[in-house]
Amino acid sequence: MIECWNNRGFLYVVATPIGNLGDMSERAVEILRQVDCIAAEDTRHSAPLLHYFKITTPIVAYHEHNERIMTPILVERIIAGESIALISDAGTPLISDPGFHLVHAARERNIPVSPIPGASAIICALSVCGLPCDRFAFEGFLPAKETARRGHLESLREEKRTLIFYESPYRLQETLIDLATIFGGDRRAVLARELTKIHETFLYDTLDKLAHQVIMDSNQRRGESVLIVAGAPEIEAKEKAEVLAKKIFEVLQKELPASQAVALTAQITGVRKNFLYSQFIAE
Ligand code: SAM
Repeated sequence: MIECWNNRGFLYVVATPIGNLGDMSERAVEILRQVDCIAAEDTRHSAPLLHYFKITTPIVAYHEHNERIMTPILVERIIAGESIALISDAGTPLISDPGFHLVHAARERNIPVSPIPGASAIICALSVCGLPCDRFAFEGFLPAKETARRGHLESLREEKRTLIFYESPYRLQETLIDLATIFGGDRRAVLARELTKIHETFLYDTLDKLAHQVIMDSNQRRGESVLIVAGAPEIEAKEKAEVLAKKIFEVLQKELPASQAVALTAQITGVRKNFLYSQFIAE
């Protein structure tokens, strides 16, 4: 049975499969059957899924073009006692999908919001990519325009955490070329395509080689894909700090005794004093 809280309904955020219907959870089916209404990103897209699981609950459209209008309507329905389930075309709603306005408004009105977890392409890809996943940054879709995309990638070049991007088949090639140019062709990356589907494929290589494979083989551009790129290597950051330390030390030593210049340089850059002495003073 669906829980009730203060005589108000619930908002459920329900994940649906990203390809393989076998990934639909029993709980997701049960909730979608029991709620008063399903708010779906695309009612026509979700119809076959709902039909397959014999879910006959009334459905309304909730997508990026009507979410500002629909949000207060759905919130009032929940406050009046109805329970509503939010679904997107595939995977977990709100993750590069509509739903933020509704969940935010529900939280603001103290409406209980409960997740019904399931697939999300980020986590699926990350869990099998073989790159560090203890810390990661999900970047969603990159800007479509070339200048904005490159600018954004420049800003991520030094990011240490593993980076995850969603990409459309139409821009995959350009994105890989930009990534290789800006992050360096040697950076390790994974292209995870058609996750959970018949043509599920993983390419694990350097950015240069991935770009080359995608350019040479148009099949590698087909379908849906997630790109995972290793974070900037630690050593790079250390070397950069040392180069910066040298520049700062050279300026400071013109004005200050060497020991003071070293101490200040260490404080500013975080580079160890012993290292600075050995590099700049002890000859
Ligand atoms: N909400 C979804 C989720 O939780 O993963 C993501 C929706 S977003 C609009 C769609 C993007 O997710 C696709 O362009 C692709 O980058 C990624 N994606 C979705 N399903 C995928 C799959 N089966 N294999 C690889 N990538 C997928």
